[in-house]
Amino acid sequence: MAFALNTYPVTFRSRFSGGKWSSEYIEKPHRTPEEEAAMSEKDRTALESSRNNYDDMPLVNYTSQYGLACFEGLKAFPQKNGSLAIFRPDRNAVRFARSMEGLCMPPFPQESFVSACVETVKRNAALGFLARYRDEWEKDSFMTADSIYIRPFTISEGGIGVNLSREPYVMVINTPVSAYFSSDSCDAVVTDRIRATPKGTGWIKACSNYVISALAKSEALRDGYMECVFLDATYRSYIEEGSSCNIFFYLKSGELVTPELGDTILPGITRESIIELTRDRGLKVSQRKISIDEALEETKECFVSGTAAGATPICSLTYHGKKVQFNGGRTGSLTSDIRDTIKGIQYGRLPDTKGWLVPVV
Ligand SMILES: *Cc1c(COP(=O)(O)O)cnc(C)c1O
Repeated sequence: MAFALNTYPVTFRSRFSGGKWSSEYIEKPHRTPEEEAAMSEKDRTALESSRNNYDDMPLVNYTSQYGLACFEGLKAFPQKNGSLAIFRPDRNAVRFARSMEGLCMPPFPQESFVSACVETVKRNAALGFLARYRDEWEKDSFMTADSIYIRPFTISEGGIGVNLSREPYVMVINTPVSAYFSSDSCDAVVTDRIRATPKGTGWIKACSNYVISALAKSEALRDGYMECVFLDATYRSYIEEGSSCNIFFYLKSGELVTPELGDTILPGITRESIIELTRDRGLKVSQRKISIDEALEETKECFVSGTAAGATPICSLTYHGKKVQFNGGRTGSLTSDIRDTIKGIQYGRLPDTKGWLVPVV
């Protein structure tokens, strides 16, 4: 499975209490990765599950009861020289602090965020839990390459009445990950559901937002699509996002369009990286409203972007039962170019001219 939970042994935990953050690294039970791979499935599952259990944390809390929490997702990429590098953790640090503030939590300091990401990856790697570079990934532009997923998140203190969190925990776990979308389909469908509303929490990487996304995505998968696309809540006509990724349309006019940020769109780090990279090449890139009608009429290529997705082509969009295919159903050249460029930088095959990679070891 592409995104199975196998928490690496070392986890970061911090707690806000008495006006300050107190942090620790916790090493959970493990053997060597090779020994674990050789265990029976039952024993291995039990060991892996034990790394996901914390009996010194409250079960009943504002997160488990009301979904009050936010999270981040970023990756460490194995490099050819055997090292690991994290892609733009400083940007996730900024977003995480903003998300926490948006949920009225004390923001987690940005330097602590970056060092917790670096340090968990480093400590897990020292125990042998890491991803190793493989030359054969270069043949398909890292489409099937492995990486280490870093998941920072909040959990509230114990409590039962609807409330905000004054003394949250911040955790950072690492888990292995390989390619995200299965490649058998590249069709997307416009969902009727509403992910985010004006004045709501759509701009926050808030856990509660993902219930709607998961419902819409499972309906799309059930109906044979790879992805769903949300329209705005007010006019039901402007494109917003995919289920948990941003979306781009390369129009016949040569303009690359992605919906403008506001309070309903999640400001993706991949999104901002793609905007910067394509602008550098002299492409006209616009962050603006794009209606579903314009998108269906004018699109040459379409793709979604995110840490998990990279840049993933969308080859058709179905709206009210009508399917419109882009670029004859094949991945377009701009899309594959952007995908290869992002992956190339992340896996160190292209020069990191922007200083986006933070080395771990
Ligand atoms: C995380 C996320 C994205 C993509 O953000 P990246 O920083 O590029 O991974 C886009 N939309 C939603 C709703 C998300 O949760």
